[in-house]
Amino acid sequence: MGIFEYAPAPESRDIANLKPNYRPFINGEFVDGNGEPLKTINPATEEVLAEVGTASVSDVDTAVKAARKAYTNVWSKMPGSERAKYLFRIARLIQERSRELAVLESLDNGKPIKESRDSDVPTAAAHFFYHAGWADKLDYAGLGPNPQPLGVAGQIIPWNFPLLMLAWKIAPALATGNTVVLKPAETTPLTALVFAEICQQAELPPGVVNILPGAGDIGQSIVEHGDVNKIAFTGSTDVGKLIQRQVAGTSKKLTLELGGKAANVVFDDAPLDQAVEGIVNGIFFNQGHVCCAGSRLLVQESVAEEVMEKLKYRVSTLRLGDPLDKNTDIGAINSAEQLSKIKGLVESGDTEGAHRWTSPCPVPERGFFFAPTVFSDVQQSMRIAREEIFGPVLSVLTFRTPDEAVTKANNTPYGLSAGIWTEKGSRILWMANQLRAGVVWANTFNRFDPAAPFGGYQESGFGREGGRTGLEAYLNV
Ligand code: NAP
Ligand code: MG
Repeated sequence: MGIFEYAPAPESRDIANLKPNYRPFINGEFVDGNGEPLKTINPATEEVLAEVGTASVSDVDTAVKAARKAYTNVWSKMPGSERAKYLFRIARLIQERSRELAVLESLDNGKPIKESRDSDVPTAAAHFFYHAGWADKLDYAGLGPNPQPLGVAGQIIPWNFPLLMLAWKIAPALATGNTVVLKPAETTPLTALVFAEICQQAELPPGVVNILPGAGDIGQSIVEHGDVNKIAFTGSTDVGKLIQRQVAGTSKKLTLELGGKAANVVFDDAPLDQAVEGIVNGIFFNQGHVCCAGSRLLVQESVAEEVMEKLKYRVSTLRLGDPLDKNTDIGAINSAEQLSKIKGLVESGDTEGAHRWTSPCPVPERGFFFAPTVFSDVQQSMRIAREEIFGPVLSVLTFRTPDEAVTKANNTPYGLSAGIWTEKGSRILWMANQLRAGVVWANTFNRFDPAAPFGGYQESGFGREGGRTGLEAYLNV
């Protein structure tokens, strides 16, 4: 139908250096875990990629002991300027192995190669570079004199940005002198285990970083371990609440980065073509598997029709398919489970009376895919306006006045991010002040920088990652 025909431009999967087996990383070595091995699949084809050894509860204890020993004997004693050298080395190794990491991430997660290549992997390296710079300057971070590390950090991450979430967790922990036991998500363990190889290449002292693949129960035993001083969790609000209950009454420090249902607010004076690009990026980036996705579009009534028309045209040009094809805009949904969650919520939108439009793009027969979908006539009470869908599905609501926009934007149990599109600077500042969201973007969306703190309000969690504020989560100040 389009003017342009695209020839396939697949990246070679050989670059991923995929191995048939991967193993947990404890005390600087790959070891046989005592858990039941898991098979990780390529969600775009449903083929098994590799078998991954997992940790058992006793392996968690071994890893925590290794992390404690490394903390006490080596890492906490090392001058910040020396720790920084390791972080710089890791950052450079991530750059050196960036193509391999990008292809592996796209295979294991299903995200388009152009995103893993241009966003996930470079931003992961940037987090190590940024935090390397802080390691010997903690006295000047504005957190008081002589801030001290906490000890052993237990870190649990989700599947939507596997390597990037690892970097958000490990870089600040190491820069501030803590050691780490990290559990990647069950469906995306591979890049974390290549990161473990990078730790070996960087000659990071054994035990400073430990990586334990496994299911939720392994996450839970990290949380419950008596010799862990800090828990950093990114994932669903339900599991976050569970962890908060488990940590209550202990001396463990906790940060939670949970879900979101961000409002992306478009005023009638906004540059509409740019806004449409921002709306598309806000909800269709990474198949909508983004905690800060702009999943609720609030558009001023006077331009609603025009925006919808432009939006549908633009969305119908998005290319869905093989994540390794460099032309692909939308890859695979990470798992069958997530796909059925998306389908369930979309059905609730139909039943509750919203109007569904789906891009006419071809959808591959194998693998987990979901065509970009836009709901209009959405009411605030509907599940698709309240619950996180975590997929390529946008809910569109309208408003008449700025006050109404603020009320609707804030009508959510979450509070992670928000977007504002208007030409008026004063309105941007006024809105940003009223919106209860940790990050507010103006005339852009989904921009990330290691220097900018990220985190939520309300059910989106607490604590910040990134920037000077993010250091505090790993320090006694
Ligand atoms: P999830 O089920 O909460 O899983 C997150 C991680 O926690 C996974 O590694 C998971 O292991 C583990 N886990 C499961 N049960 C656990 C327990 N009882 N104790 C300790 N750990 C446990 O979330 P998800 O479905 O993977 O990820 C999607 C959610 O994450 C979305 O709601 C999204 O908004 C949120 N998210 C938030 C941010 C943020 O920065 N705020 C960023 C990304 C994602 P398994 O892999 O084995 O299940
Ligand atoms: Mg996988």
